[in-house]
Amino acid sequence: MDLRFTPDETAWIAKVRAFAQAQVGPYAATWDEAEHVPRSHVQKLADFGLFGLVVPQEYGGHGRTPLEALLAIEVVAEHCGISGRLVVDHNFGPTGLIRHYGSEAQRRHWLPRIARGEVLTSICITEPEHGSDANRLETRLDPDGRGGYRLNGHKRWITGAGERELYVVFARFGDTPGSDGIGCVLVPADSPGVENGPREPTLGLRGIREAELIFRDVPVSPDQILVPAGPGSFRALMRAYNGQRVGAAMVATGIGVAALKAALAYAQQRHQFGRPIADFQAIQFRLADMAMQLDAARYLCYRAIQSGDPPERYAAGVAKTFAAETAIAVTNSALQVFGGNGYSRHYPIERLLRDARMFTLGGGTVEIQRLGIARELVRAGYSPLEPWLEPASSSA
Ligand SMILES: Cc1cc2nc3c(=O)[nH]c(=O)nc-3n(C[C@H](O)[C@H](O)[C@H](O)COP(=O)(O)OP(=O)(O)OC[C@H]3O[C@@H](n4cnc5c(N)ncnc54)[C@H](O)[C@@H]3O)c2cc1C
Repeated sequence: MDLRFTPDETAWIAKVRAFAQAQVGPYAATWDEAEHVPRSHVQKLADFGLFGLVVPQEYGGHGRTPLEALLAIEVVAEHCGISGRLVVDHNFGPTGLIRHYGSEAQRRHWLPRIARGEVLTSICITEPEHGSDANRLETRLDPDGRGGYRLNGHKRWITGAGERELYVVFARFGDTPGSDGIGCVLVPADSPGVENGPREPTLGLRGIREAELIFRDVPVSPDQILVPAGPGSFRALMRAYNGQRVGAAMVATGIGVAALKAALAYAQQRHQFGRPIADFQAIQFRLADMAMQLDAARYLCYRAIQSGDPPERYAAGVAKTFAAETAIAVTNSALQVFGGNGYSRHYPIERLLRDARMFTLGGGTVEIQRLGIARELVRAGYSPLEPWLEPASSSA
């Protein structure tokens, strides 16, 4: 096992960093204030080649490795968490589900458009009454009697709802209860019967619209079915979603890195008692703890992304949980280093803390991740090195 980057990876990190410094970082605070990221910026991310990174070139993507995608995500997220999330959604999450499970026609139609930034996509699982317990979701897909289907239901907390072109919707096919009744369909946002619900006023990551979506008798043709319901379908969908979890963990880590770098610079420049506050051991220990936590989070992300394609449940859950909790701890610690200024909106730290707060919730809470981790431990014992050693298998 060689933990050093290849020359290609090193060059890729430098290229993404130069882009993020010039085109992303300077606008992050403005987008937070405006609670909106302009589509022209989203297009810049796509034009630079950050969408469809892991999509094979034959489907219009960039054919990079999942690790290379992750490296880009950390750098982008260090400059702007919202932009990091956009990159995650257009490589993993809904894009990953199409890459892993789409028919040849679905992949050929959607993946090139996603890679070019023409089509933005959201994943739609959560409902008002079914969050962590997604097994019981009630959005329904029923036959229309003419060879097609009708989709009816109400989704909540949909990232990008109302601003994206394609929804990847989890629904109950017919009356089968529990996870065996759940499948997934591709629904263009301009389909008749797709209605935008109210936006959530959120604590952080404000540039992305989080909102409700209502599906009222939306016509769905058989070729829009991504994964039909059946034994194992929901499990497979959730397995592909592990890529999203690792991507989110990397965004959280990037936000933490931004906080540490800011705290480090501030501690050297701010003087009290005639000395830089970085001279005080209390501040030094804080900075050291922040660095150690971020190092650990980053390597857990690397392990998870290399545990398989899609990643393994255990490795993804560990990375997501640790990185999410680390991001909160690190941004909170950075705020303390800034003293009163950390609490001021003139400095970036309060925004980073607000942004970091999301990651223990979205994409499955840390409590639910811990349940999954524990389930794997009980099933297979503690064998943390095995996912790292397994060769990654690609299904696309
Ligand atoms: C910013 C943001 C973006 C999101 N984006 C999307 C999206 O794009 N698409 C989408 O489908 N969803 C999205 N979500 C929804 C997210 O996945 C849910 O918020 C999450 O699954 C938790 O569901 P809930 O909020 O209904 O909380 P609940 O399920 O009501 O849980 C409340 C609390 O109880 C705990 N809890 C619940 N069950 C258990 C249990 N068995 N054991 C221990 N603790 C338990 C939870 O961990 C949590 O702390 C997003 C959420 C946020 C905040």
